[in-house]
This record gives sequence, structure tokens and C-alpha cells, in this order.
Amino acid sequence: MRDMLAKESLHTVCQSAACPNLSECFGAGTATFMILGEFCTRHCRFCAVSQGAPSPVDHEEPVRVARAAAYFGLSHVVVTSVTRDDLDDGGAGSFARTISELRRTLPNASIEVLTPDFRGVARSVATVLMAGPDVFNHNLETVRRLQPDVRPEADYDRSLSVLAMAARWRPELIVKSGIMVGLGETDDEIVAAMSDLYSAGCASLTIGQYLAPSKEHAPVARYVPPESFEGLRNMAMAMGFRSVAAGPLVRSSYRAGELLRQERTEGTACCGR
Ligand code: SF4
Repeated sequence: MRDMLAKESLHTVCQSAACPNLSECFGAGTATFMILGEFCTRHCRFCAVSQGAPSPVDHEEPVRVARAAAYFGLSHVVVTSVTRDDLDDGGAGSFARTISELRRTLPNASIEVLTPDFRGVARSVATVLMAGPDVFNHNLETVRRLQPDVRPEADYDRSLSVLAMAARWRPELIVKSGIMVGLGETDDEIVAAMSDLYSAGCASLTIGQYLAPSKEHAPVARYVPPESFEGLRNMAMAMGFRSVAAGPLVRSSYRAGELLRQERTEGTACCGR
């Protein structure tokens, strides 16, 4: 997979964000494509993705993503991007073109997008929604109080509003979000964030342990024991979420296809272990 991705000049968030599940996912033939270049225009203190001058939009990238997804034989394709605040549409057009190419090349695959907040611009969110993904995912990342510190260019309410737009405009779509624990939040703040996500229209949720990518990143404030993840998962299900993956190594795309299948069948919980 590494060779094919390099040959097609494609990036995966699995590699760029130093995901702890990379071996498992690559071994199972799944990967999360990261479009719109390697460099992010924001500076989240938990994130291992490189920051720097963004590259010009590569208009052939959607075709190459679709070709690689077909080559890997993926049944569930996850597409994410760095945040591109330098682009008028925030990169929404590239998401839409990638979804279209994937639909053309892999008509039976389900498609999940994990998007930035597009600065809350409704037109950009609509551009992605109109392309017809099966799952619209945007991560809230952390609780309200910690947002300015760990996610300085983002905004808690703006993220909720993006999710609410997706839920309102495409009710048949699965709206998903994710939060990390271990950044200094309290249990009550986690419950409040879950409740806000549910009220915004999220049906699917991931909860994972924050791990600092380096000493320069935000430090880990606590390691949440596995049994506490089970408690959070049960609480989220009781709140009304239809599918929840919670566990120390759960990341927003971890076993995403499995979570979607569960969501479509009965609505259930996944411990992510
Ligand atoms: S916006 Fe996304 S990719 Fe960019 S630094 Fe923040 S978490 Fe990382």
C-alpha cells in the first residue's frame, strides 16, 4: 500500500498523523486518504499533521484517489483533508470531485468524508453534501473549555453548526463526530460535549485517548482506563447515538466501515478493542 500511495503521490492521514492503528488498518486493506496536500493552515496543538505553506490544488488528485481505492478493493473509502483556510471554498470542491470520482470508479463502495469546518461557510458544506457521501464526519475534537488552547483557529459552536447543517440538509446521511479524552477535560465536560453533538444531529460518535505526537505538542493530562471508555460508550448509547466506538486507540476513521455497517443494521456500540 505504501508503494502504491507513493507512486500515485497520495497521502493518508494514517501516515501523516502517525496513527497508532496504521499497521492494523493497512493490513486490513483500509486507509484514509488525505487530499489537498500535506500541509495544514491551522496549528492544533494535538495534531501531528505538518503545518506550512499549502500546495496548489491538484485537480488530478480525485482521479488518483479513486484509482488507488479501486486498486486496494476498498468497500468503504474515507476521505479527509488538511484544513485549507487559504482557499475560497476551503477545499469543498476537491471533496466533491473526489466523491464523484469514487462513485464512478467504485459504485458499490460507501464513502465517508471527514471534513474541516470550512470556516462555517454554508455554501462549502452544501457543496460536499450535494456530492452525496454516505457519512459526513467532522470532529469536535475536545470539550468547549479547551478549544481555544488546543484548537486555536477553530470554534466549538462553529463545528457544531457544520454538523447541524449536514443533519438538517441531508437527513438520510449519517452524521458523525469524534472527541479525544486526556487533554485536561473533566468527565462532566465530556458528557456535555456528547450531549451537544447529539443535539446537533450526530448519530455516530468516536471517543479515543489523546496521545501526544511529540514533546512540542499538548501534553497528555491523563490516561483514561479502558473501563471508563466503556462507561462513556454506554452513556452515549443511552443518550441516543446509534453507533459509538470508544477505546484508548479509537480514532475517527478506525474501523469506519464496520461502524457504518452497524449503524445501518441495528445501531450498536463498538468498544474499539
Ligand atoms: S485542522 Fe486538522 S489537520 Fe490541521 S492542525 Fe488541526 S487537526 Fe491537524
